[in-house]
Amino acid sequence: MNIQTITKLLTDAGIEENEAKIEVKILLEHFCHYTELDKCKGVELTDNQLDLLRQKVEIRTETRLPVQYIIGEAYFMGEWFKVTPDVLIPRDETEILVRKAIDIIKQEDLKNVLDIGTGSGCIACTIAKNTDAVVLGVDISSDALRIALDNVTRLRINNRAVFRKSDLYSKVRADEKFDMIISNPPYIPIGTELQQEVRHEPKEALFAAENGLEYYRKITQNASEYLNKDGWLMFELGIGEAGGVKEFMENNFKDIGIIKDMAGIERVIYGRVI
Ligand code: GLN
Repeated sequence: MNIQTITKLLTDAGIEENEAKIEVKILLEHFCHYTELDKCKGVELTDNQLDLLRQKVEIRTETRLPVQYIIGEAYFMGEWFKVTPDVLIPRDETEILVRKAIDIIKQEDLKNVLDIGTGSGCIACTIAKNTDAVVLGVDISSDALRIALDNVTRLRINNRAVFRKSDLYSKVRADEKFDMIISNPPYIPIGTELQQEVRHEPKEALFAAENGLEYYRKITQNASEYLNKDGWLMFELGIGEAGGVKEFMENNFKDIGIIKDMAGIERVIYGRVI
């Protein structure tokens, strides 16, 4: 048994080769404390380490649990966030949203941000870590909020990112005003067939009614009440949803911009309250 034969267990189970190699690397680092540097130096893995790796790979192939849930962490914008099946695993695409938010916050020296559907808190924490803004993250799930709180501790940004249980704006007070509202809401149309791995993620973080547009509509409808003058609203978008979301925003928002991801998909929309 060696790394190659163990990697083959993953590819035989239908996991794409590059992905399989990355996953083996992640599992080796996490469970066997064996790094890329060790590999370069030619350090040999012990039988115990290889056995442990094989056990973890078998969990992966038998359950189809995403590797991030197996190790309990996900990498996002330079930090390792705690994740469990109670929260969505942060995605690379979300970086486009967060980078744009950080640019705007820095340029305009914004102070208060509301992150709706914060989940693991990856958006709230990354903004708090990289700007002077204080971020309030809200989520309907208490289990998700517990993870978000752990992530605040991990990133040592206590008091800069704070969390509250709230169904969208239900527990956000009318006198609380924000310079920016940001959200990566559930946006997969109900009924969409999911990849096996994604089925382990919380359904309430994934699916939305109204062809995936439900939360964009609800968040946009009330956003102006909670925004300061010239405040911003920004969303991550699901595939093909830019047009619908833009329509919701056009009544109350100006300077609307859309950013495409590397695959050319319209991935982020933002605008300024009128
Ligand atoms: N805000 C979190 C993220 O972007 C969770 C999003 C969600 O659960 N829909 O990863």
